[in-house]
Amino acid sequence: MSWYQNFIKRVHPGYVKLISSSRSQYLSNRIALAQIVRNTYGQYADAVEREIRRLGTHGLKAVQLQQLERSLRIEQMKLAEGLTANFQSTLEEIVELGANTSKHVLIDNAKGVLKQADIETFFIKVNADAVNYYLMETKSRGLSLSEALWGISEETNKAVMGIIRDSVVMGSDAFQTGRLLKNYILNGGSVQHALVRKLKDGGIKKYYVPKDVKYEALRLVRTETSKAFAGGVYKGGQANPFYLGINWVLSASHDVIDVCDDYAAQGFFPAGEEPDVPHPQCMCSQVPVYSSPEEASKDLREWQSDPSSHPDIENWYRDAYLPALEGLRV
Ligand SMILES: [Zn+2]
Repeated sequence: MSWYQNFIKRVHPGYVKLISSSRSQYLSNRIALAQIVRNTYGQYADAVEREIRRLGTHGLKAVQLQQLERSLRIEQMKLAEGLTANFQSTLEEIVELGANTSKHVLIDNAKGVLKQADIETFFIKVNADAVNYYLMETKSRGLSLSEALWGISEETNKAVMGIIRDSVVMGSDAFQTGRLLKNYILNGGSVQHALVRKLKDGGIKKYYVPKDVKYEALRLVRTETSKAFAGGVYKGGQANPFYLGINWVLSASHDVIDVCDDYAAQGFFPAGEEPDVPHPQCMCSQVPVYSSPEEASKDLREWQSDPSSHPDIENWYRDAYLPALEGLRV
């Protein structure tokens, strides 16, 4: 069975369009963020080349290293800032995409009972809470997003400076070193690994050179976008009175058996017991489950004429919906 067939089997036909469109928007945001990461590294690569070539066309001298170290530190800061700003804005959008399914489900089901504008307002608060929840959850795993990205940019800077120091020892010229480094940052390590092997043969101290300096940042794109979307689905769902929980659908590219297989075997997780995304790079889907559209609109109409007929809706209305609307109207 294909991933989509598996997915569709677990969604009420009335919600298929909503659920799959927010999921596909999320996936295009994830692809866009990965592209932005590559572009940001591209700008960094250009800057590294430029700063090295500024030193002239002759062989690199040890005395120039301090100056270069200072200017590359600034480029590293720009890299970290560029990554952080783009991660933050994209992840916020993705949390909201996850939560928005529940907003649209409520709008559709509550026609004639609750005002669409009020539901939209209510979800401004729900989305903000979901974003906060996601950011807190990120921090609880050890590092905030900006700290993690700073660390990643620092590793890149260390590798770049190491290569430059070796080039000085080897007497390489600034022009060639600049081109080599740009190539290495953009395309990964084959050229660089050849150089490092040569250096090692020459007895120069070994240092860590990742095969691809972009790898850790791109891995963070996959991990964090999954977590952000799942967080939005959960928090948005919990704000919708017709949300029952989620179905765990294995990713199509899931070849190693792990805890995700257990989750998929269990399938359904009730509201409040949704599992966190269990491992980095997990691409599984958390498909929200709601009462059927017919049932939800019938319940809402009954509640409207007699609030005591549906205490659960009444509680949601008094404890979550109205306070949020009042809080935002002030
Ligand atoms: Zn998974």
